[in-house]
Amino acid sequence: MFESLPMKIVYVDNNATTAIAPEVVEAMSPFFAESYFNPSSMYEPAQRVHEALDRARQVVARHFGLTDAKPILFTGCASESNNMAILGVAKANPQRRHVITTSVEHPAVLEVCKDLERDGYRITCLNVDGEGNLDLRQFVRALSTETLLVSIMHANNETGVVFPIELLARLTKETDPAIVFHCDATQSVGKMRIDLGQEYRQVDLLSFSGHKLHAPKGIGVLYIKPGTPCRPLIIGGHQEAGRRAGTENMPYIVGLARALELAQEYFEDEKTRVCGLRDRLEQSIEATIPSVQVNGRGSPRLPNTLNISCHFVEGEGMLYQLSDAGICASSGSACTSGSLEPSHVLRAMKVPFTAVHGSIRFSLSRYNTDDDIDHILKVFPKMVANLRRLSPYWDQEQNAPRADAEELVRANPRS
Ligand code: PLP
Repeated sequence: MFESLPMKIVYVDNNATTAIAPEVVEAMSPFFAESYFNPSSMYEPAQRVHEALDRARQVVARHFGLTDAKPILFTGCASESNNMAILGVAKANPQRRHVITTSVEHPAVLEVCKDLERDGYRITCLNVDGEGNLDLRQFVRALSTETLLVSIMHANNETGVVFPIELLARLTKETDPAIVFHCDATQSVGKMRIDLGQEYRQVDLLSFSGHKLHAPKGIGVLYIKPGTPCRPLIIGGHQEAGRRAGTENMPYIVGLARALELAQEYFEDEKTRVCGLRDRLEQSIEATIPSVQVNGRGSPRLPNTLNISCHFVEGEGMLYQLSDAGICASSGSACTSGSLEPSHVLRAMKVPFTAVHGSIRFSLSRYNTDDDIDHILKVFPKMVANLRRLSPYWDQEQNAPRADAEELVRANPRS
């Protein structure tokens, strides 16, 4: 499809989805062709497919520093993993009815919590400050021996802000080891090292999906630490040790495992080169465009994500014009881009009204280059200036008296 497009495409929407790596396509292809057998069947070719399933599970486990692969459960996507984590824990322990989450989670967590609330559960939704950081005091105060579950994301899909999961999980377990700690790590897996045997060992459940790390859409993982009470959502088959029914999606499982191996190889590139590209983009935008703010800059962030708000410009207008210039970015949340609702994450961070509508997220990957950044920098500042020329609010802002006008006159009475 893209071959027929005349212009260069600069894809900087990798928190929405990523290009499938050619190595991943290569690893998957036998499972679409000669290795199509059902891994549960008894004959020899099917047993070889079963061995490939076991190997893929081992690769995923090793990526997280685990020697035992049994805690790795393959699902259809991160949304399913999140649903299973929350509803599965609720089903397993109906005595406790208090859940702690945050106001900036993905809807695949927030909506599930709202559903529980409708069923009478008490939900504590933690606030964030202007930089996207959690209020730790509020968190500690919310924890109690009545708490069933804590569900907190690792990295935010819109701003890239990273929460201190190791600390939050430790504080949870210090309050009561029976509280289950779930982490939606969909945006951090592949971009950050997560060792579930070491610093992240207090995490009981961890969700992510393949399409954020150069594997296809339609495959996810839920890590379930042994002993964690969590009932299945999809029943009616023995697959995944009875934890999720349905014949295994072999090509995608193999593709996900290959994508994690590659992510491991590219960790250093992500941390240095990709982060360098993001920083150059951020600094140049700030140097060339007046009245912009970088959302979440005061916090630890993913190396690939830049969320900026341009005051007095409509995000939608920017996206269309970027698209005309071959640049694929997004405004608002990864999975709800296309909606005109202002982002719930930026609203939770109390980004001012004049800026929340003018927010753009650039999210990079290992396939981005210096040329891509040059192209964005050639187009974007001019585009914002043009859009502002059409904005009555920007006009008003430019002609508004200085906030310190009175003070200036008083300090310089003779001028
Ligand atoms: N969680 C987070 C933090 C996400 O960013 C997304 C998608 O953007 C999801 C969950 C849902 O992922 P999936 O599309 O695999 O269901």
